[in-house]
Amino acid sequence: MSKLPCAELHLHIEGTLEPELIFELAARNGIELPYADLDELRARYEFTDLQSFLDLYYANMNVLRTEADFADMTRAYLKRAAAAGVRHVEMMVDPQAHLVRGVSLETCINGVASVLAVSQEEFGVSSALIAAFLRDRSPEEAAKVLTDLLDMNAPIIGIGLDSAEVGNPPENFVPLYEQARAAGLKLVAHAGEEGPSHYIEQALDLLLVDRIDHGIRCMDDPALVERLERDQIPLTICPLSNVRLQAVDSLESHPLPLLLEQGLNVSVNSDDPAYFGGYVDDNFAVLRETFDLNPAQLAQLAGNSITGSFAAAERKDELLAELEAWLLVQGTE
Ligand SMILES: [Zn+2]
Repeated sequence: MSKLPCAELHLHIEGTLEPELIFELAARNGIELPYADLDELRARYEFTDLQSFLDLYYANMNVLRTEADFADMTRAYLKRAAAAGVRHVEMMVDPQAHLVRGVSLETCINGVASVLAVSQEEFGVSSALIAAFLRDRSPEEAAKVLTDLLDMNAPIIGIGLDSAEVGNPPENFVPLYEQARAAGLKLVAHAGEEGPSHYIEQALDLLLVDRIDHGIRCMDDPALVERLERDQIPLTICPLSNVRLQAVDSLESHPLPLLLEQGLNVSVNSDDPAYFGGYVDDNFAVLRETFDLNPAQLAQLAGNSITGSFAAAERKDELLAELEAWLLVQGTE
């Protein structure tokens, strides 16, 4: 089966940092890692919840010091994503996670953006950047960072909200989202991953987001499921991530097939692929196997990723045409 053409809408660029690259960048920057070798690092990739992952995620980021480091990480992702069938990506970067380590906004943004500027030319993948804010840090700090991003004309299309969800509700970030909206930015937020379903409602009603990252806890509230279906709010679902962080008991019990069947705008994404066991194609592969999804269902998921993206109308049409061509040959392969 040829790779399913799709868009990736829920991807943290720092979560694409593979163990090999961590060691390479550590050597380049003269940083001593607390792991003797790759095996010892890989052994830490057993998570019990979101926080246990975040602890390792932030520790590993310490090897990112220069623009070249951010650029190399971004290039490695795009190469792998292109092979996975990704034709358009809207990736998140966490500026605060670097600022707290003394790495400037310019270093992290310019490093990533320099590669995104040539992503279509070099990898055939159109791209856009979303600045995500850490909800477990203060809203005031987030507002200051957004102001700095706007002042430096950072090439971002929108803002997001990520990190430890429980106890850090969307309602804390209303002024930040108002500021971003006034600047003409698109709005997305993680909600309903580990946190309760009413965080999804808050993100919609108070932050006025265009899209929800995760959103699987909507299953706890039938009225909310109905609303998400009626308004076709895109939910960027990350199956392997949900399994690895134990946000679901098992892949077999994942709500994605039900949400798809109920007509919600759900897409498949890899979140932090270096940590959760795979890229978009790996996520599609386990879904297909587990739920016996047919080509039309796979194309529906990929189509949702394209229509749920912020790509220009012509780019969406181009990708939907590619998807249609993919679906046509499925019966003949
Ligand atoms: Zn995420």
